[in-house]
Amino acid sequence: MTALYAVPLSEEELAFRDDVRLFIAEKLRPEWRGVSELWLRFEMEPLQAWTREVVAKGWATWDWPQEYGGRPMTLMQRYIFNTETALARAPLIPHINLHMVGTLICEFGNAWMKRTLLPRILDCSDFYSQGFSEPEAGSDLAAARTAAVRDGEDYLVNGQKIWSTNAHRANELFTIVRTNPDPASRHRGLSILLIPLDSPGLTVRPIRSIDGLHHLNEVFFDNVRVPAKRLLGEENEGWKYSMLMLAREREAIADLRPTIVMMNDVMEVAREAGLLEDAKIAERAQQLLWELDALEMMELRVLNAVEEKCEDGYEASFLKISGSTLRQEVLQFAREILGPLGAVMPSATAPRSPSGYGEHFVTDALINRAATIYGGSNEIQRNIVGKVAFSRQGPLL
Ligand SMILES: Cc1cc2nc3c(=O)[nH]c(=O)nc-3n(C[C@H](O)[C@H](O)[C@H](O)COP(=O)(O)OP(=O)(O)OC[C@H]3O[C@@H](n4cnc5c(N)ncnc54)[C@H](O)[C@@H]3O)c2cc1C
Repeated sequence: MTALYAVPLSEEELAFRDDVRLFIAEKLRPEWRGVSELWLRFEMEPLQAWTREVVAKGWATWDWPQEYGGRPMTLMQRYIFNTETALARAPLIPHINLHMVGTLICEFGNAWMKRTLLPRILDCSDFYSQGFSEPEAGSDLAAARTAAVRDGEDYLVNGQKIWSTNAHRANELFTIVRTNPDPASRHRGLSILLIPLDSPGLTVRPIRSIDGLHHLNEVFFDNVRVPAKRLLGEENEGWKYSMLMLAREREAIADLRPTIVMMNDVMEVAREAGLLEDAKIAERAQQLLWELDALEMMELRVLNAVEEKCEDGYEASFLKISGSTLRQEVLQFAREILGPLGAVMPSATAPRSPSGYGEHFVTDALINRAATIYGGSNEIQRNIVGKVAFSRQGPLL
């Protein structure tokens, strides 16, 4: 088991940790544990019910203004909450709804969005999927071609998105569209529309991924009518909003908690099988545990810097590179020590417990091959960090 906290907690923080533990004991139903972790499983009802509990407690809207239901939390409180809930295998709070779409609506949304959509995010009755990538526009998002043409009180949308995670479960698509077709206006010709996924003319088609699961989709638009009130912020300013959103997505992808839980599972398997008596295995395990601790401290430092500056910058890219790479290293270590189990595809319903971990390992390893791609590939993140490094005299972090 890795140390629970890589930094010592103050008296106040320990008291907050105890509050969180009590809350988990009282509100997290046993049947909700482990049913909505990363990609492996996704059950909407426990996720919604748990999210409502956390929102009501005031532990999910730290980045919302108070007038829309925001409740401030310190960085350490968020860190403690994330750690305790990950260890308890609570359903993941839908980051995309609250901290990507919700915060942008608070800042840039019109009165209708604030009045109608924010409460639906808070009570989890709306669930968003992200419609950014297109077959010819992934890393180069500004090449997006899905067109939205103003037609009276509506936009008429035509085109295609790809890799839209959970579009088959969500009811809203946070979509980047081209509102100015002039090639000279690339970045300045994009807008964000919030499109109901049951709109006439919209088709969601599944993509089954190498892990055998269905979480990815293609989305096709054939003359889809979207009311103009569903335009987020200003027309043709979509690039600005997408960059804010992507930085927040990277922070979530960089979250080390799921990797720590994975490492704990792997250590449990290794211990049960007596593998830690092998000096080479023990040494590799210890190295990974140290790297996890070091990255956890770095994560706190970076998030602190982001909070002080009140803006997201290259730091989220830095964390995304390190966090996704380390997750893959942990899974590689698991593959090496699991022997034949590390090559067996699991049944989708096998329980995910430490001793059953081998059952899930292959799925975990396969889907996490994509951790260095989704949310903007690590090569692109290195470009972002590199540009800042070149333009600065002093140290980066
Ligand atoms: C599991 C998964 C879930 C996803 N979920 C979503 C989602 O919900 N919504 C959504 O909109 N998208 C989603 N994506 C898409 C994801 O954001 C893109 O796959 C990613 O941005 C890369 O784009 P691409 O696949 O078009 O690859 P490309 O952009 O074609 O890149 C191909 C390769 O070239 C490299 N490359 C490209 N340009 C450069 C450059 N300038 N410098 C250096 N290297 C470069 C890339 O790093 C990559 O290795 C998801 C992807 C995956 C795998």
